[in-house]
Amino acid sequence: MKLFKQVILPLALSSMLLFSACSSSNATSALNTALDTSSKASEISEASSATITTTLGEQSSDTSEQTNIIASEDTIMSSIGTKPNNEKMYVHFIDVNQGDSIFIELPNSQTMLIDAAEESQADKIITYIHQQGYDSLDYVVETHPHSDHMGGMADVINNFNVSSIYLSPATNTTKAYENMLTAIQSSGAKTYSPMAGDTILDDGNLLIEVVAPKTVDNDELNNCSLVIKLTYGDNRFLFTGDAEKSEEDGIWTNIKCDVLKVGHHGSESSTTANFLKKVEPTYAVISVGAGNSYGHPDDIILKRLADKGVQTFRTDIQGTIVFSSDGTTISVDKSPSEYKASAETTITTIKQVADTTSDGSYRYVLNTSTMKIHYATCSSVK
Ligand SMILES: [Zn+2]
Ligand SMILES: [Zn+2]
Repeated sequence: MKLFKQVILPLALSSMLLFSACSSSNATSALNTALDTSSKASEISEASSATITTTLGEQSSDTSEQTNIIASEDTIMSSIGTKPNNEKMYVHFIDVNQGDSIFIELPNSQTMLIDAAEESQADKIITYIHQQGYDSLDYVVETHPHSDHMGGMADVINNFNVSSIYLSPATNTTKAYENMLTAIQSSGAKTYSPMAGDTILDDGNLLIEVVAPKTVDNDELNNCSLVIKLTYGDNRFLFTGDAEKSEEDGIWTNIKCDVLKVGHHGSESSTTANFLKKVEPTYAVISVGAGNSYGHPDDIILKRLADKGVQTFRTDIQGTIVFSSDGTTISVDKSPSEYKASAETTITTIKQVADTTSDGSYRYVLNTSTMKIHYATCSSVK
């Protein structure tokens, strides 16, 4: 088990952000000072359960840093009463257009939310979670401070009882980010800023670990994404936020997983061949908006996944996608997308073959997909 520092947001933090005219880097260092981005996870010696209970039971009015133990399930159970173990875990990749929001019903009856998409999607996320029968979120993760991941966070936090919030060590100066910090302050939730090697929950056959980032650079927000590995029995999920190649390359722990949340909406910047080899997923999910202006997902990534035989799901095609796991077997409520080469790729498979006409044009062409030769005028080669 590991210890890392709980971050307590000072009351002055919002005003610092709202009213200072400081430059981005000044704001960043101010935030880092305030948050003490707690990059260092201190190794645990053994703490007694009495200490843990005391820590959880007390609300500190002190704004100084406080070292806390990330609560084990047993500890939380003892503080809120025993809940039945439903044994099944459900991972909902909510269709939030261009952005990410993943709601998880953990097998210990706790809940987790990874990202809250754009602000315009907040009502949809709130309604969706309420429809699943929950008004509490035990763990909320903001992978990184881009609006398509944390824009809806303020509204979500304001609408649920939130116990713990895990923030990317990177910060931003946008209004959406300020709103999130304000909501966190009034929520009373415990706030953490973990790094690679930290553990969010360790409870026997249920383990939630942070496997990245290792470094912080506010000019590289995607590469400061909290990358979360969730293990339930034999089943593993990897949630990557918008991590790109450099962050992927820095992960050296075992990340072999059954389900991969594809990084950065299927952008070519992420999901390198080397990374995919390490994860070796059976399933991949791309959270992406139909007709987005970024061209996500990139055909190269779709082909890379298809070539590896990965069953790929897309929120722009399948809508909300729900995986379930009993710790041994994973199932999913939708059928995967079939990989189809883009129009550009298809055109290149039609090759001209010999026998030109008197005006120099080709009389026959070979369609290399079907391996059939057609007259150049045939409608099937248009
Ligand atoms: Zn991003
Ligand atoms: Zn994104």
